[in-house]
Amino acid sequence: MNDSECSHNCSNCSSAANCSSKKDNQKPDNSKFLKHTIVVMSGKGGVGKSTISVNLAVSLALKGKKVGLLDVDIHGPSIPTMLHLQNEHVLSNGEKLLPVEKAGLKVISVGLLLENPDDAIVWRGPMKIGAITQFINDVEWGELDYLIVDAPPGTGDEPLSVFQTLTGKSSAIIVTTPQEVSAADVRKSLSFCKILNIKVEGIIENMSGFVCPCCKTLTPIFNIGGGEKMAKEFNVPFLGKIPIEPAIGKSCDEGEVFAFANSETETGKIFAEIANKITD
Ligand code: ADP
Repeated sequence: MNDSECSHNCSNCSSAANCSSKKDNQKPDNSKFLKHTIVVMSGKGGVGKSTISVNLAVSLALKGKKVGLLDVDIHGPSIPTMLHLQNEHVLSNGEKLLPVEKAGLKVISVGLLLENPDDAIVWRGPMKIGAITQFINDVEWGELDYLIVDAPPGTGDEPLSVFQTLTGKSSAIIVTTPQEVSAADVRKSLSFCKILNIKVEGIIENMSGFVCPCCKTLTPIFNIGGGEKMAKEFNVPFLGKIPIEPAIGKSCDEGEVFAFANSETETGKIFAEIANKITD
């Protein structure tokens, strides 16, 4: 695109990805305060992306890392509920937005900007892109070791805007369930990362069997091992298998982070091992 055609509004421009105009190169340098951003992606909803985002963020914080959690699921933010922040609101210091702090994390979600948590966000792509750019550049994050981003399912505006706004190190984690039918979704997320030249940190298999709270027996409800098989097939690291644990569902509903209070349980240790793989 030549300069006369340029709208000088890169975040709203459909050609921004392939544009080499001067304006695009002037995007704010957020690498100074965001050392490493990890976007948690999945091909479809309900596979546990938000659950993994929250628990992984807390597991990294428990390792002494400075961690932020950014929820860019504009139309269905679940992070405020999972952290019991429904009555909290993001404030501003006049220059920047101040993240809400919970469980050792700095948290930003569109849900924390709503008057009423039941309000619907009716925004087209450019508005979402503008909000996401602000959530990255105009928030008082401090200096973070890791920013974990909970993206909505799919490969749309939200993950794309995050990656295009970041100037520092970034990578992706792909969450899937163990069924064979999820392979097509994983392939799409991997293809998105390949097109944008994004490092894939690895695949996490969630809902990998059910651990009976009484006898601790593992039952393969949705099968087990599909995510590991996909990681081998697509030649990306496999980060771990999280079973279906009633305590995880309960803590999400009650706004208590599972990994925070259960770090010594078998599943708590799996989250810690995934955090170790990432920091290593
Ligand atoms: P997504 O972000 O992919 O839409 P969520 O993280 O919101 O999915 O999870 C969907 C539901 O499944 C939530 O109610 C959550 O508590 C539950 N859930 C996710 N992972 C597990 C798990 N490993 N064990 C038990 N419940 C889980």
